[in-house]
Amino acid sequence: MSLPNPGESPRTEINRLKQRSVSDRDAMYEILDSTILCHIGYVESGQPYVLPYAFVREGDRILIHGSSGARFMRELSKGAPTCITVTKLDGLVLARTTFDSSMNYRSVVILGTAEEVTGDDKNKLLEKVSDGLVPGRTLEVRKSTNKELAATTLISISLAEASVKIRTGMPHDDEGSGTGVWSGVIPLHLVAGEPIAADEESQNLPIPQSVKEFRANPKG
Ligand SMILES: Cc1cc2nc3c(=O)[nH]c(=O)nc-3n(C[C@H](O)[C@H](O)[C@H](O)COP(=O)(O)OP(=O)(O)OC[C@H]3O[C@@H](n4cnc5c(N)ncnc54)[C@H](O)[C@@H]3O)c2cc1C
Repeated sequence: MSLPNPGESPRTEINRLKQRSVSDRDAMYEILDSTILCHIGYVESGQPYVLPYAFVREGDRILIHGSSGARFMRELSKGAPTCITVTKLDGLVLARTTFDSSMNYRSVVILGTAEEVTGDDKNKLLEKVSDGLVPGRTLEVRKSTNKELAATTLISISLAEASVKIRTGMPHDDEGSGTGVWSGVIPLHLVAGEPIAADEESQNLPIPQSVKEFRANPKG
């Protein structure tokens, strides 16, 4: 059965600037697949916490891995309700007034409950997470040990309840032209720098294929 489209549930329906709401699942996947950083929030004893984590999309769910010792991972594994936000900042929108100034962005908000992934699936999906971050890297490094795998918790969150909001284009400027104030957009793009070898051994090795490919097509 197919999942509801973004923004379809009462909790994810965008009220403010509705025209920026996007209900297309493919648009949501495109944002998620070109991003590796999300912010995850949950409430513990009435106190909200929001922490940054790496993530990967696998089908209709988000996968997040972390230390089994991390409080956050423990709380989420127990089924705490969570909200995940993924943001791509595409530009600064500078209007003739600060009031009308804005940002160009693509963002996804996901509501749900985390489930811990255990059993046979876990190791395979952990590789998917690593390869989702830097495609091809797991083929270049030594295999994870059982101890390392045991020290890693993997959780999944369904994309059943999510919303997508996108702003593009120029300022919507109430002042109009003829004021002598410059207005426009400063586009922002993610650029990967020249890779830096960790030590003498790595300086003497060729740059791995995964690093070259990530550099050509970085995710942020
Ligand atoms: C990079 C960036 C910078 C921003 N800066 C500002 C700012 O400085 N000031 C400001 O007022 N707003 C800013 N926004 C917009 C902000 O995220 C909210 O959309 C806006 O403030 C409306 O909030 P609300 O509670 O009235 O939303 P509502 O429309 O009432 O929210 C209802 C539901 O819509 C969904 N939703 C709301 N916002 C988003 C979103 N951004 N992405 C995906 N789903 C969403 C959620 O599921 C939410 O539960 C920014 C957004 C981005 C991505």
